[in-house]
Amino acid sequence: MPVGTSWGRWPRYEQRIFALGSRFDPLPGYAPMLAFGNGRSYGDVCLNEGGTLLATRGLDRFVHFDPDSGVLECEAGVMLSDIIALTLPHGWFPPVTPGTALVTVGGAIANDVHGKNHHRAGSFGHHLLSFELRRSSGQMLPCSPTHNSDWFAATLGGLGLTGLICTARLQMRRVPGPWIAGDSQRFGSLDEFFALARQSDTEYEYTVGWLDCAASGSRLGRGIFMRGNHVEHHAPPPRTGSLRIALTPPLSPVNNLTVRLFNELYFRRPAAAQRHALWHYKPFLYPLDGLLEWNRLYGPRGFFQYQCALPPDAAATALPEMLRVIAGARQGSPLVVLKQFGSMPSLGWLSFPRPGVTLALDFPNRGVVTLRLLEALDAITRAAGGAVYPAKDARMSAGSFQQYFPAWKRLQDYMDPQFSSSFWRRVTRSE
Ligand SMILES: Cc1cc2nc3c(=O)[nH]c(=O)nc-3n(C[C@H](O)[C@H](O)[C@H](O)COP(=O)(O)OP(=O)(O)OC[C@H]3O[C@@H](n4cnc5c(N)ncnc54)[C@H](O)[C@@H]3O)c2cc1C
Repeated sequence: MPVGTSWGRWPRYEQRIFALGSRFDPLPGYAPMLAFGNGRSYGDVCLNEGGTLLATRGLDRFVHFDPDSGVLECEAGVMLSDIIALTLPHGWFPPVTPGTALVTVGGAIANDVHGKNHHRAGSFGHHLLSFELRRSSGQMLPCSPTHNSDWFAATLGGLGLTGLICTARLQMRRVPGPWIAGDSQRFGSLDEFFALARQSDTEYEYTVGWLDCAASGSRLGRGIFMRGNHVEHHAPPPRTGSLRIALTPPLSPVNNLTVRLFNELYFRRPAAAQRHALWHYKPFLYPLDGLLEWNRLYGPRGFFQYQCALPPDAAATALPEMLRVIAGARQGSPLVVLKQFGSMPSLGWLSFPRPGVTLALDFPNRGVVTLRLLEALDAITRAAGGAVYPAKDARMSAGSFQQYFPAWKRLQDYMDPQFSSSFWRRVTRSE
């Protein structure tokens, strides 16, 4: 069996790959099965050790697009980048998009992904009109918020466990073009971040913070806040191609020294404080998509991402505690995102977004010391009543998962008996 992995490049599992070429293809029946989108989840939510992965990138057909209403129907293997290429010339954009456009519609539904506009637009599921779910029995279930609504809520954020999503209908949002205008500014503390988020969330579609995770003492919680809105602007898109990291370095260049140096320069660079900024949507929304296979930079052992959500009341104390633990451990990376979630309740039973603040950071995999650090962060998240994002996880304990997502038992009744994942087996085993 071939060895497969996900974006964090850890863990690596042997699994059978069955490539679907059409939504009408029969399923192979080698259980346990699991749909695989574009592997942009960081851990094992899209892996199935010893089982079968249904590769869905062949489900890449558009079924219908109405340029008047902005309603799009497509197969589940279509990527957001393909959707943008089709709809943006007509003035329509995905209403919610994660920090990479290289995800499939099926993956976006199964993790109920969120973007920099969660405070305004909620998550992917809030714009999902309907989808078709294929069960291993052959049954095709049409699902929407009003029809088979329990299947809709189980499958949205349902981690691919209820069956194969074949097609989806989405309501796109109107935009005047590919440009985003706004500003960026430095903040010196978490209190300043919260004040900026409060001030900006009514006026700006997109808001996001970058945090210096190596900063400690009086610099703890410093970072850069960016905000923007789609605007009408007539200029050709910047001519930037993609670069590719072609080799995995034997040792990761991401270490305490390089992170400190990079963060200092990044924080101080003039573009960190721009009163009037104009960005093409690609560098603003998808800054890493121009560097293909950047995940190799973490070396042969791969890396972990830790993304948690902390409730509003607990965030002011839990966040600085986390940052102190991370700075003390000297294990972070420059990729740290801080974002205020809005209060719109998620529609999926296991959806991750919830009111409060979300912090996401990458850590090179240094084995047991990194696992210990992540467990220490989990202890803070658990005590704060928060949650860790399954799409980014490869190691949380069953106890943590079950505390974060109490609806997991409800999902069990809707799981396809032939579907499972490495993630699910890990987080539902008895400890
Ligand atoms: C650089 C980067 C930035 C990111 N930023 C964000 C962000 O801002 N917000 C956010 O929410 N996420 C973010 N992510 C995570 C990413 O959006 C999710 O992990 C997304 O689900 C990946 O989609 P995929 O198509 O690669 O699916 P995969 O990772 O291959 O699979 C994800 C899940 O979807 C299921 N699945 C896939 N296709 C189907 C199908 N047809 N039917 C049923 N189940 C299916 C799989 O079984 C699996 O459980 C980011 C990832 C990267 C690499």
